[in-house]
Amino acid sequence: MSDNPLLNTNDLPRFDAIAPDHVEPAIEALLAKAQDALGTVTEPAFPAQWSTVAATLDVAVENLGVAWGAVSHLNSVNDSPALRAAYNAALPKVTDFFTRLGADEKLYAKYKAMDVATLNPEQQQAHKNAMRNFVLGGAELTGSARDRFAQIQERLAELNQKFSENALDATDAFTYYAHADEVDGVPADVLDAARSAAQAEGKEGYKLTLKMPCYLPVMQFAHSSALRQTLYRAYATRASTQAPPEMHRFDNSAIMQEILALRKEEAALLGFTNFAALSIAPKMADSPESVIRFLRDLSTKARPFAEKDVAELRTFAAQHLNLQDPQAWDWPYIGEKLKEARYAFSEQEVKQYFTAPKVLAGLFKIVETLFDVRISPDTAPVWHPDVKFFRIERQGTLVGQFYLDPSARAGKRGGAWMDGVRGRWLRPDTGKLQTPVAHLVCNFAVGTHVDGVEKPALLTHDDVITLFHECGHGLHHLLTQVSERDVAGISGVEWDAVELPSQFMENFCWEWNVIRHMTAHVDSGRALPRDLFDKMLAARNFQSGMQTLRQIEFALFDMLLHSTHDPAADLMQLLYQVRAEVAVLPSPDFNRSAHTFSHIFAGGYAAGYYSYKWAEVLSADAYAAFEESADADGTHNPATGKKYLHAILEAGGSRPAMESFKAFRGREPSMDALLRHQGMSASA
Ligand code: ZN
Repeated sequence: MSDNPLLNTNDLPRFDAIAPDHVEPAIEALLAKAQDALGTVTEPAFPAQWSTVAATLDVAVENLGVAWGAVSHLNSVNDSPALRAAYNAALPKVTDFFTRLGADEKLYAKYKAMDVATLNPEQQQAHKNAMRNFVLGGAELTGSARDRFAQIQERLAELNQKFSENALDATDAFTYYAHADEVDGVPADVLDAARSAAQAEGKEGYKLTLKMPCYLPVMQFAHSSALRQTLYRAYATRASTQAPPEMHRFDNSAIMQEILALRKEEAALLGFTNFAALSIAPKMADSPESVIRFLRDLSTKARPFAEKDVAELRTFAAQHLNLQDPQAWDWPYIGEKLKEARYAFSEQEVKQYFTAPKVLAGLFKIVETLFDVRISPDTAPVWHPDVKFFRIERQGTLVGQFYLDPSARAGKRGGAWMDGVRGRWLRPDTGKLQTPVAHLVCNFAVGTHVDGVEKPALLTHDDVITLFHECGHGLHHLLTQVSERDVAGISGVEWDAVELPSQFMENFCWEWNVIRHMTAHVDSGRALPRDLFDKMLAARNFQSGMQTLRQIEFALFDMLLHSTHDPAADLMQLLYQVRAEVAVLPSPDFNRSAHTFSHIFAGGYAAGYYSYKWAEVLSADAYAAFEESADADGTHNPATGKKYLHAILEAGGSRPAMESFKAFRGREPSMDALLRHQGMSASA
């Protein structure tokens, strides 16, 4: 037992040593300790003091949280049948503990009895959040309502996990071995990877999958409409009964319906009219109605630009591609071809300059310059040879550390994300400062090794933007100066403001002074030529109207699904309705994008997907401050960087996001900068 790596809670997680059979005994032991701690602090004689409760209970909960975080992380990046089974076996127990903790009436009473006036401002904010969370966690419920609430939480956790598994399994289960004559137009590096994947299985041809580094370029570049149709249909019908019969075992329909019904019931138990109202309660927005108004307002402003985008695509497709009646699987291809024709460059050409090591060095340089820190390689146990570990220092003092897991592989959940390993915390047990640690996870292409030639991974410009985005979350978590765990970094930040620092960072991917330092052609080593960058810049807002409406379609569907929709009704009808209201491109009726909409069915974005657009307003407006204060040659004013660091990143969740924003900008946010950046302002 003592050599169980999950029980080594004093150090960084032993990712190299954690095995599936460590999970149950470790989590049981840590749960028992946390349970004991809860028992201790809720004794009548135990002092109702913030620091004494924290030293006993928060420390035990932190140990459990860090160990469980390591297991969840491995489950996301290194899924295996044994680990999945161990994770699923422990999940209900962990969920049950946190549900009970969040609703423990004796603990709630203890918090109520604390003398708030004796707390420092950070602790006061953490206390305020805790009180609100108790109410939302069901602490005021009694009797059968209380039991039912707990049951719902547990069941929802299982359903979220199952939804996510189905989405992953349905994605992984599809492969198509294409012949050489079908893959015309697909970029060489994608074909190399597909060829070597087929070879590794002793198969002929090219192994095509629904993983992004393969699916996306096929959709954008394959000349064969039939091949694109095959992949599109497989992708759009994942985890639904629209997929072929042998895939029906991954169908998410019933799971989605049950999730929605349980969420509505949960909201009713807590006195909310619907789940959206419950979801909004701790957020920056003030009601579902105001979010719906915000989305429709933005939709109205974007629509003329989106309609113009579609008209251009149709004309181009008819005139140059002989596509008179484009289908859903043709649009990405038409878009790429129009972009090439209009801006005379392709993503493929750009990609040759963004080699992973150079991009990373460029990213670190901008972070170091803006926020006065040093980033250097560090060592820690990792779960895969591709994973890197880094430390951030300021004037020789350790600020934080992070893991970077950049590449796509089987058994790794798709997408990109940042996750906390542990938060900044002046530990009440040791009196020492715990520095924050984060995960940055992406799904980029891997370097290739074909016919004895080794090449580094190449990133698309979108990949680079994704990396900057996740790094922005990471900086929010890592550069905080708040020492109270629950409001340090992104902890305690309203969900709809959480994307501010991440989307803010994306802007730097459009600055010449940044870009030129982070490019080196894979063969020649030359930096990205200025004229190519200018073309990229010209193409930046290509289809921004369409893309805005696409995001609004998801966000509005999510918000209506959790407010006006009856969970017993067919959610596809709502989706058709929203598409009819918002979308400018028709989706085929068989498209079941909702069935893999993990953000709202398996992640924390239920009735919260609008947060991306909401925070985009904040981030664009924040970045505008950098534009306004820069030199004529584009050099940033260090004072603006410092102000942003202090007001937004360092403050973390220690005060409402609106206050932080106003501290930085001196006023409330405005939509103007976003519309201007995306070429959708009246003057643009
Ligand atoms: Zn994000």
